[in-house]
Amino acid sequence: MALIVQKFGGTSVGDAERLKNVALRIAATYRDDNAVVVAVSAMGRTTDDLIELAKDVTTSSHPREMDMLLTAGERISMALLAMALDDLGVPAVSFTGSQAGILTTAVHGEAEIVDIRADRVKDAIDEGRVVIVAGFQGVDPLSRDVTTLGRGGSDATAVALAAALGADVCEIYTDVDGVFTADPRVVSDAQKLVEISFEEMLEMASAGTGVLMARSVEFGRRYSIPIHVRSSFHDGEGTWVKEKTMEEAIVRGVAHDSSEAKVTIQGLADTPGIAAKVFEPLAIAGVTVDLIVQNVSTEGYTDISFTVPKHQLAKARESSESIVADLGAGGVDVDENIAKVSIVGAGMKTELGIAAKMFRILSDSDINIGMISTSPIRISCIVALDRIEDAVRALHNGFKPALAPQEESL
Ligand code: ASP
Ligand code: MG
Repeated sequence: MALIVQKFGGTSVGDAERLKNVALRIAATYRDDNAVVVAVSAMGRTTDDLIELAKDVTTSSHPREMDMLLTAGERISMALLAMALDDLGVPAVSFTGSQAGILTTAVHGEAEIVDIRADRVKDAIDEGRVVIVAGFQGVDPLSRDVTTLGRGGSDATAVALAAALGADVCEIYTDVDGVFTADPRVVSDAQKLVEISFEEMLEMASAGTGVLMARSVEFGRRYSIPIHVRSSFHDGEGTWVKEKTMEEAIVRGVAHDSSEAKVTIQGLADTPGIAAKVFEPLAIAGVTVDLIVQNVSTEGYTDISFTVPKHQLAKARESSESIVADLGAGGVDVDENIAKVSIVGAGMKTELGIAAKMFRILSDSDINIGMISTSPIRISCIVALDRIEDAVRALHNGFKPALAPQEESL
């Protein structure tokens, strides 16, 4: 008997009909002589709707109550799913994150799972039940307050549960067929990947590929849990995220992200310690900084630019303005019309000239590069927001021969 963790995203449980279909799929897995634990997201746009509702009620921030509100979304789908399974003759029980023993840090809205005390889940499995766990949530053991794990957090719930239970596989059911070589909405001939390594998937997820939450991939890697990303609408194979892939690709895929903005602090004295004085207050303010570029210094002064998530722009601007005041710098400039395009592939480690080729392809499309950042297996460029789709298409096309062969011919 295998232990399978299945996660169903919001679209997969978008209405009563889809929810019942999900129940049928879970029932089939269960009847195949598997133990099944399910992590479920809120139905459809529920989370967004609840956020909007809160905005209609208040303009100030209420992190604790916001988490109380948002966790209600997953509570609805978990209970309905347990009922639907029961109707199919499959014994099922639903648990909130807290009841499932998912312990987190205290940061409302962006808590991290620190431990899972899965006794209650294990007992229910031993009783022969399918266990439905509300995704995206946990509890801070110190305050005993309910927390949420950040948008898309049900993926993290699923993989963390799989790790805690020693599951054989974690299946992520979603509204797309798997992970693609680029966003298929942008690149019409993007291919579904048969497999991708944890390290590549981590880079793709951090670079904007929305199929899997980056933190869930980290769990998968840390505890060696293979993740199968697949469609909830048919039975076809999806993409396997695992330790090692059969084929090494120079470029596994092209990712893009339009959710960041660029902040530039101008006229900083170019002296030792200046970067620390800029980024320490930003870190304290909880701003997640991604790319950083320090410009060439002229006459002892320099500019530092960095990118931040657009949803953190207000706090980034506020701390940048006080940094400018504290350091007697020139000023702050914000550019929201940027986007990031990245190429990712483990084969890049040993292949020369990939960055040069990327820049050449962008140049041939007359796309200006604003900032560059690299890891051993990723190269990212910041370009103008209105050119991002052109950049993705040009890079996908230009690197097509370097992509690993897929089952379907390229
Ligand atoms: N319902 C949450 C969200 O919309 C969590 C998830 O779907 O994974 O972000
Ligand atoms: Mg999701």
